[in-house]
Amino acid sequence: MDVLKKVPVREQDPKVRATNFEEVCLGYNQEEAQAEAARCINCKNAQCIKGCPVAIDIPKFIHEVKEGQFAEAAATIAKSSALPAVCGRVCPQESQCEGKCIRGIKGEPISIGKLERFVADWSRENGFVPAKPEKTNGKKVAVIGSGPAGLTCAGDLAKMGYEVTIFEALHEPGGVLTYGIPEFRLPKAIVAREVSNLEKMGVDIELNMVIGKVLTIPELFERGYEAVFVASGAGLPMFMKIPGEGLVGVYSANEYLTRINLMKAYQEGSETPILHNKKVAVVGGGNVAMDAARCAKRLGAEVHIVYRRSEAELPARAEEVHHAKEEGIIFDLLTNPISIEGDEKGHVQSMTCIRMELGEPDASGRRRPVPMEGSEFKMEADAVIMALGTSPNPMSTKGTEGLEKTRKGCVAADENGQTSLPGVFAGGDAATGAATVILAMGAGKHAAKSIDAYIKSKG
Ligand code: FAD
Ligand code: SF4
Repeated sequence: MDVLKKVPVREQDPKVRATNFEEVCLGYNQEEAQAEAARCINCKNAQCIKGCPVAIDIPKFIHEVKEGQFAEAAATIAKSSALPAVCGRVCPQESQCEGKCIRGIKGEPISIGKLERFVADWSRENGFVPAKPEKTNGKKVAVIGSGPAGLTCAGDLAKMGYEVTIFEALHEPGGVLTYGIPEFRLPKAIVAREVSNLEKMGVDIELNMVIGKVLTIPELFERGYEAVFVASGAGLPMFMKIPGEGLVGVYSANEYLTRINLMKAYQEGSETPILHNKKVAVVGGGNVAMDAARCAKRLGAEVHIVYRRSEAELPARAEEVHHAKEEGIIFDLLTNPISIEGDEKGHVQSMTCIRMELGEPDASGRRRPVPMEGSEFKMEADAVIMALGTSPNPMSTKGTEGLEKTRKGCVAADENGQTSLPGVFAGGDAATGAATVILAMGAGKHAAKSIDAYIKSKG
């Protein structure tokens, strides 16, 4: 075995997987996991822990995997993370724990994410359930939103003995994990299992509860909740404001993905009107764009990613870009849409684009894309999916006087989740704008500590 290289992980064949919604990555088996774990040199001053926003004791759980002590490894991870099967699959490990791994200096870092996934899957298959706190302290906390921030905060507070209720607007819990990230990257049965573990710990989840509409934050306090954690994410899509965006067949990536993941548009008999398009243009270059493109491909379309900068600036994870290319997604880089045209029935028919070149760096440090005069061209398309980013939806905080927001519409909160109002905390995408699962979880953890301190300080 070459210790400088990761033990390769098995994946579905690209040609086969481009036609189904089953999981792409098949994960390690016991033998592979133990071989990969044996590459870890168990550094004294482990940098990987510093790279993990929830500070999992990585060397300890990897050592336990190496020794075949999988239940112990699961317990080690459970001390820091309530969603290991999720994080093992979707965390951008290359820029977090694995980005800091010493092994990575002279070879490939340890496959920390795949090992975490192995342990989480092993514990699920072997019926490992986290312990329920012996008794509650009788204090009630409300959490708005059941995405990774809300679930983590709720789990940590339940462990401390609080009675936690999560209020979720949708009919399924999980936030983006359920309605956004596709089945082939994160099977929904895995999210459901991690949510049910939290319920077994005593967390109550009330679905179809739109806070700001059914109940406001002040009304939650009136009902006896001593603190509220706003974790309502950033689900409001952005558009380009170009002519033709109102045509039938133009979707926000959020709507498109919700129809597919939450409403199962790919299954026979699904009620959602997702068309089985012939040619789909996905505008944007982030993870959301890759997810939408790979879904459209699986629904039988020729799919183009249209992105205004070059490959080097693509914001999506390298692994997602690699998978998209393997599955036959076409990348139209340095290309920007300027209008969308429809047929006589008002349905998308084509998109006019202009070629771009890279100029001087802008405020983000990336080279600014500049249109090339006279390079306009028409691209045929019967669906256009806008994946340009999202911002927080103001609904959850409606009717809450004095709650400060940032210029970008996020709830203003410090690193402990404290907002401008006593007893109101916020974290995850609602406070930062669109970010990552593990950062949302880290925010949920910090907020749980602050909420505990706040309630104790009230006596
Ligand atoms: P969310 O997950 O958005 O959850 C918020 C919840 O609050 C939702 O369930 C929503 O319905 C609910 N809610 C909203 N308003 C109300 C209200 N008024 N009342 C009650 N409930 C309300 N990150 C990664 O790390 N890796 C990835 O691979 C990755 N892929 C992604 C793919 C897609 C398609 C998308 C959209 C995002 C992806 N992300 C990824 C980002 C990541 O999913 C988010 O950063 C993370 O989910 C944020 O967690 P959160 O708990 O703050 O919010
Ligand atoms: Fe193991 Fe890498 Fe962490 Fe060191 S930095 S303990 S080699 S995973």
